Amino acid sequence: MTKYKVHVTDDCIACNACVSACEENFEMNDDNTKAKVKKSVISDKELAKNQEAKEICPVEAIKIEES
Ligand code: SF4
Repeated sequence: MTKYKVHVTDDCIACNACVSACEENFEMNDDNTKAKVKKSVISDKELAKNQEAKEICPVEAIKIEES
């Protein structure tokens, strides 16, 4: 099974869009200044929802790469 690494870069502007698109894996940090992932390694079953979050991000701050 292919695994993917997901992370949020410092370009994040805390717009919350990724959390709306994929609550399963994205949440805001404690002071609401940046999104973070709940799991940094996901399976291919989880890829589609995480990809939606990536695509909706207005500043391309979400990176997904095969691991
Ligand atoms: S969609 Fe992008 S800019 Fe908005 S909170 Fe998520 S990572 Fe940050």
